[in-house]
Amino acid sequence: MSNSYVGRFAPSPSGPLHFGSLIAAVGSYLQAKANQGTWLVRMEDLDPPREVAGAAANILTTLEAFGLHWDREVIYQSQRSSAYLDAIAHLSQQNLTYYCNCTRKQIHTQGAFYQGQCKHKQLAADNAALRLTTTTPVNYFIDELHGTIEINQALAAEDFIIHRKDGLFAYNLAVVVDDIYQGITEVVRGADLIDPTGRQLYLFEQFAQPAPSYLHLPLVSNADGSKLSKQNHAPGLDSSQAKTTLIAAFRFLALPVCHELEDLSIPQLLKWGTEHWSVKNLPRQKSIVLSL
Ligand code: GLU
Repeated sequence: MSNSYVGRFAPSPSGPLHFGSLIAAVGSYLQAKANQGTWLVRMEDLDPPREVAGAAANILTTLEAFGLHWDREVIYQSQRSSAYLDAIAHLSQQNLTYYCNCTRKQIHTQGAFYQGQCKHKQLAADNAALRLTTTTPVNYFIDELHGTIEINQALAAEDFIIHRKDGLFAYNLAVVVDDIYQGITEVVRGADLIDPTGRQLYLFEQFAQPAPSYLHLPLVSNADGSKLSKQNHAPGLDSSQAKTTLIAAFRFLALPVCHELEDLSIPQLLKWGTEHWSVKNLPRQKSIVLSL
């Protein structure tokens, strides 16, 4: 890879950064810097009901306290509606979209996946979601860490939602429109987003744009195996402990951590991390129980 590398960290501001999101931030940062690349931050504030007031600003302050400085202006998905509407118009013009008023419950009683029940109904937009017809399902992709990842066939074949019933733009649509807009060459993020990658690759195809490469890092999980997340009240990071926490993140990412690191400053730590970063040494599990 050359210095045309562009990576990103794309948090959703539904709470403060926790150790799990720090892993995605640090992993994407080190991979970008180790490739002499650019590292961007995108605030995925697409879903107001799930957002917490002040969380976006808090996330940025925390990233700064951890020395994770982004290279261009932060973009906010809440300000990108016209780009998403243009993208939807483009897909609709190709006759690839249709409205669907099925409820989640109806879909689940008819099978785990949506099977195109509304495809030929020509429903109107009111109280309906917009779905994208999947003509050529993406059944697998190559992950930089895991190699070939197969995607459940029924999931890959599903006509998925790009504009929700409640008027919000769907995550997959916004992510792809923005990864294209920001010129992202590689996506480094948590393994919980492996499944949606097939849908995202399908969207890149529909927009006739080259897809980035993907690297999915292990998730940090609790002792019971559940993902460390805002939903299960993972504690927010304490910026006064940034050095120790950064070293713990390095250890989680299998960097050869040693005691001498404790004497380094945060910028020196990140420089050391960049020099010692190695994709091939990363743990290949999809999730790892946190032991600090
Ligand atoms: N905003 C998503 C999250 O916080 C991440 C999206 C992505 O990296 O593609 O889980």
